[in-house]
Amino acid sequence: MGFFDNLKNFKNKLDQVESTVYGKQSLLEVYERNAKLEAEIIKRTNELDRANKQMLTLQHIWDMMNSSKPLSSVLNAIVNSIQGELGYLYSFIVKQNTDENGKFLQIVASSREDLSIKFNDYFKCNVVDYKMCFPEFEEIKNAVKNNQIYQSNDLIKLITGFIPSINEENLKNFLKEAKMKSYILVPLRSKQIHFGSLIVFSSRENISKSELNFLNLFAKQIELAITIADLFQAVKEQAITDPMTGLYNRRYFEEFIKKEAIRSNRQNQKFTVISLDLDHLKQINDVYGHNYGDIAIKAIAEVLKNNARSIDIAARMGGEEFNLILPGVDSQGGLIAAERIRRAIESVELEKIEHITASIGVATYLEHSDDIDELLELADQAMYESKRNGRNRVTLAKISNISSWQEVAVNTFIDILSKHRIPLDTQTSELLNSRLNQINKSNDKLYQVADNLVEIYNPEHKDGIMKSKVEFASLLAKRFDLTKEAIDKLKIAILLYDIGNTMLPKDLLQKKEPLNQEDKDYIKKHPIIAAREILEPISNIVDIVPIIEKHHENWDGSGYPNKLSGEQIPIESQIILIIDSYFALLEKRPYREALSKDDAIKLIEEDINIKWSERLAKEFISIVNDSII
Ligand code: GH3
Ligand code: MG
Repeated sequence: MGFFDNLKNFKNKLDQVESTVYGKQSLLEVYERNAKLEAEIIKRTNELDRANKQMLTLQHIWDMMNSSKPLSSVLNAIVNSIQGELGYLYSFIVKQNTDENGKFLQIVASSREDLSIKFNDYFKCNVVDYKMCFPEFEEIKNAVKNNQIYQSNDLIKLITGFIPSINEENLKNFLKEAKMKSYILVPLRSKQIHFGSLIVFSSRENISKSELNFLNLFAKQIELAITIADLFQAVKEQAITDPMTGLYNRRYFEEFIKKEAIRSNRQNQKFTVISLDLDHLKQINDVYGHNYGDIAIKAIAEVLKNNARSIDIAARMGGEEFNLILPGVDSQGGLIAAERIRRAIESVELEKIEHITASIGVATYLEHSDDIDELLELADQAMYESKRNGRNRVTLAKISNISSWQEVAVNTFIDILSKHRIPLDTQTSELLNSRLNQINKSNDKLYQVADNLVEIYNPEHKDGIMKSKVEFASLLAKRFDLTKEAIDKLKIAILLYDIGNTMLPKDLLQKKEPLNQEDKDYIKKHPIIAAREILEPISNIVDIVPIIEKHHENWDGSGYPNKLSGEQIPIESQIILIIDSYFALLEKRPYREALSKDDAIKLIEEDINIKWSERLAKEFISIVNDSII
């Protein structure tokens, strides 16, 4: 082989090597580029996945908002989604609230019950019910003011801001155990006003910008949910019909009857009110179940709709109680209509229940009364009379001799004041007298005088209590089928039963140190003796005095003055005792704080078969629970 051949060979080899090396290099490049692309694809897929998840979460929240779930469920679902799907440790919403002590924050939705429970155990504070403070530091204040999201690692500062009494060392341990490293606070607004905040706790120290943006999106959903719930509430408040029956509701009825009375006065035209109550609904519920109770209520509504003229108003006042207004109809026409309705109800045939009946009362404006409240009261009393006489019947109201019980009460007070039967200074006496003389059709002045008399010996007494006591007594008496006459007497007795207290010596009433046995006995016995002395000479209330005298007798015979027991005690006196005890519990005493409604009810329950019968306590509690007081 010549030199050139060798050279050629060498060159070929070199080319080969070269091409291999270069080929390899470009392969490496391709490989590297592929790997990069692959990583990019994985990254993008993950991002897509996350975006998808986020979209699904938003979709889920939208579905919740579209359902008619209450706001609290929607908010709970949102915080759970945020916590679960976005990988936070804890997510919750605080709402700004106000009570008599000022503003506070309260958790209204919270993602993990287990963590709340752990927190409660750790710090002996029920965080969900706890009235939290506003964290008083600039960063949070600014975030809220500017409506800007805020992120920080200083969890201690935030939580001690919420709950200043918390032990910091314990808190550090708790956060360490729970692996909490940072928090994000998103202020929430509803209708441009700060509502509260969404707060998330994370195990990561740093949170990316895009994540913060996404949290902002969530916050918008929460704001939307709150706004929608507010709108629903507004719509509900404006509603004029009862959703279960489609009849008008109480609110509409009350507005309508006021307008009807004005029209009636102007045109001197009567209208009739029919008051109707389904008989034995409780039994229907007990025997066939609540659904059948509802069916019975709806059946009554159908009868009322079918029997009403286009100008009549049929309303469901609540529960199983209905009222109708028949414009332009007098009592005779009203009775005919009521009887037609009664028969129609009786002849309805229902599955399982078979037949239902109703008790009806009829009262006519400008015939029985020219005062709406009184007219409704009279229709109601007539309805109760139908119940007393065996149910499934119609009763016409009795012509009222214009609020006779109020008149008796007013005359009694005038007598007490003018004959100086209780020790009052001239100024107070004159003031009360002038109030009594202003009483015409408004009972409020009468209650006011009764309230004023209690204030003489009880500084904790609040105005308005007498009215509530009379209303409770009247409702309770109806449950025990008392006649109208008996109820009227009871109302007067309620206004007067403690009048003897005005005779207690001032120094005893104002005594700061604990009372000794002698004082206690005096306070116990003397007012009853005094009541008799004050009231017995007033001739038109002689039959009220015995009721008052027995209102400290207990069901088990442990009361005073005569240790009567059980049915020996008139039901009127039993009613006064339970009403007096309940309202006393709601007032502050030197030896205890005022009790809440729930706590007072608990004590009433504890005294069943001691102070009162089980039935009286149960009926009373159900009346208290139905009332707003
Ligand atoms: P009365 O003949 O004396 O009227 O007896 P009653 O059982 O109908 O009356 P009571 O006042 O003792 O009980 C009324 C019951 O009606 C108690 C309550 O639970 C029930 N009730 C009230 N509203 C509804 C409702 O919307 N649906 C159903 N199913 N029951 C109701
Ligand atoms: Mg009933």
